[in-house]
Amino acid sequence: MTSSAQSAALRAAAMEIAGRGWKVFPCRPGTKAALWHRADHCRGGGVCSGGHVTPESLATSNLDRVAARWSDGVPYNIAVYPGPSGLFILDCDLPKPARPGQPPARGEHDPDGWTQLQALAAERGGPLPDTFTLATPSGGRQLWFTAPPGTALRGTVKHIASNVDTRGWGTYGLAPGSVLPNGAYELIDDTDPAELPGWLVQAAVERAPTAVSGRREMPVAAPDAYTAAALRGELDRVRTAAPGTRNKVLSTAAYALGQLAGARLLEEDHVKAELRAAVATWNTPASAAKDDGVIDTAVEAGKANKRRITPRATRGDRRRAA
Ligand SMILES: [Zn+2]
Repeated sequence: MTSSAQSAALRAAAMEIAGRGWKVFPCRPGTKAALWHRADHCRGGGVCSGGHVTPESLATSNLDRVAARWSDGVPYNIAVYPGPSGLFILDCDLPKPARPGQPPARGEHDPDGWTQLQALAAERGGPLPDTFTLATPSGGRQLWFTAPPGTALRGTVKHIASNVDTRGWGTYGLAPGSVLPNGAYELIDDTDPAELPGWLVQAAVERAPTAVSGRREMPVAAPDAYTAAALRGELDRVRTAAPGTRNKVLSTAAYALGQLAGARLLEEDHVKAELRAAVATWNTPASAAKDDGVIDTAVEAGKANKRRITPRATRGDRRRAA
């Protein structure tokens, strides 16, 4: 393809993506690098005169502005910012061999990301709906979902699985049509993005594993019916808490569930992961650290004042997943 044909194709692709309401920003031709300066190189001029402005906040779906930006005949790649676009992208990659002279790459000997994602879906009983899907130049695939209303999920690296990264707030992906030296991003399923399933929201917000290698093993609690109902009720209260009451509702729920964890009716890690997933329906990247702190503190306080175990819910009565 000639350079002018390539720039026309990329302009059309950028218009197509922006036409869906998704926020785009140009990248240097043939690269993933946003055409912008880093915060530590900011000279404070122009739009940065009031402080450094990020491409995430400059990205736009305004068709006039997109048309103008891609009108100078340069084949800019297309960055899409999932956060402000209401999207969340799962990036399933192939295992990467370590570079010569470098330590082994995590996931190097694990299955590819798509296989890992399917295995995780099967393990958690979660659906993996058809959705907007890209093939990437490296041979992987990207699944684009809509972020559930009110969530503000951040991007993650090797968190959901060793070969699955995610793109949310604070990160970006490349739109179909973008070209790297080893190939192009191609749309292979043009289904409209499905909403990110709840089990994937949870997987994205669970605390990172402390183990350096091997796959993450979240203990699966198999609570009795009473405990399961208590857990569901508390999580519902957190998810639906009205603004202004959220901190109080969260700390009350975390305390109550901490009591159940203290009585060994629930796994503490499971309780915290479920609470973080529930909080993700309304928290923001800015408040996430504070909300994590509320959860940790209140669960600890609840554990220290554990609920008395009723005969029906004694330890021997509990069933555990194999
Ligand atoms: Zn700046």
